[in-house]
Amino acid sequence: MWTAVESCARTLFAGYGYQEIRLPLLEHTELYTRAVGEVTDIVEKEMYTFVDRNGDSLSLRPEGTAGCVRAGIEAGAFHNQTQRFWYQGPMFRHERPQKGRYRQFHQLGVEAYGMAGPDIEAEMILLGERLWRALGVKTRLLVNSLGTPACRAAYRQALVDYLARHAADLDDDSRRRLERNPLRILDSKNPALADLLDAAPKLADYWSGEAVAHFQGLTDQLTEAGVAFTVTPRLVRGLDYYTHTVFEWVSDALGAQATVCAGGRYDGLVEELGGAATPAVGFALGLERLVTLVTRWPQTAPLDVFVITGTPTRRKAVALAEALREHGFAVEVYLGPAGVKSQIKRAQSSGARMTLYAQGDEIELDGAGAAGARVAWSEAVLAVVARLRGQREGE
Ligand code: ATP
Ligand code: MG
Repeated sequence: MWTAVESCARTLFAGYGYQEIRLPLLEHTELYTRAVGEVTDIVEKEMYTFVDRNGDSLSLRPEGTAGCVRAGIEAGAFHNQTQRFWYQGPMFRHERPQKGRYRQFHQLGVEAYGMAGPDIEAEMILLGERLWRALGVKTRLLVNSLGTPACRAAYRQALVDYLARHAADLDDDSRRRLERNPLRILDSKNPALADLLDAAPKLADYWSGEAVAHFQGLTDQLTEAGVAFTVTPRLVRGLDYYTHTVFEWVSDALGAQATVCAGGRYDGLVEELGGAATPAVGFALGLERLVTLVTRWPQTAPLDVFVITGTPTRRKAVALAEALREHGFAVEVYLGPAGVKSQIKRAQSSGARMTLYAQGDEIELDGAGAAGARVAWSEAVLAVVARLRGQREGE
């Protein structure tokens, strides 16, 4: 299942010009405190951090974007260039394990650099939509804009003023965030805060002309492409570096952990980490959550031939399989202890196009239009190849 989803995504990413980037699992802790932000769930309570033999503080990566930016800066990949990267692999967060939430989980992510307009955001969202379609996954798209850094700052102040007036009604987490990461309070899942937050100042009232134009550019493009979305005023994403567009795909079939995929524009991060100012957008999806939603499993590379055999004929069967592989076919030979009956079951569930019964003096062929045909061992390769090729041409 995982291979099928990954190879579907891999093909799709390549179809949009994304190249795979392989990133280390370990980075200096400081990278995450700077990139993700100190007052975030990830840095405050979710990182696996340890001191190594040199006395350096290292962390298992909790997410992919920071490492991608770090690597891109080191490789000089951003200067006057546009880049589209994708990555995949395990991420680590110290959380209470439960459905949809694990300490080691897996993300697939895309990051695009050097493109400042809403077009790349629209394209990235279309890529996501294409992936959901290919896998038969139902999602809803939520979008919002944080505006320019100036809009964000003005809004932040208004929000702090408002929430400070109601400090007595806040919970401990929110009170702590009020000074250092007030936008994150809008993300709070505490139902007791719902009314207070609904009545809070609205981001949209602080959008500048530039922010409105950027966001309008995105929503126009999505509408034109027939992509449904909901503008969600309280969607802010927790991280310090987001500007302009943020988005999430959610599913009603996931229970409490409803977000499958999340992303946004982070124009400030490359500079924050020591590179030249570079516009950037990205998203990351959680594979564990995604695979539970897949209803249409894409084909993985299928097996061409399954060989059923027994101890006396094993060596000949292995040689026959090698000869078929020379012709480019994928072949599995059964080399375990099971009898013919259960080997037949395995052959069926393997999805192989042909089954060979290679036990006696002759070989019986099944599948690819060969039901029951018998051939001598010496003619088996030619007979099998002819049938598989003939079937391929017939398709
Ligand atoms: P949540 O609100 O669910 O904690 P998040 O904001 O921490 O999500 P991101 O950092 O945006 O999540 O990660 C992107 C995606 O990775 C999520 O939408 C989700 O699908 C997946 N994800 C995040 N944390 C976990 C986890 N602990 N276990 C499984 N999947 C996860
Ligand atoms: Mg989380």
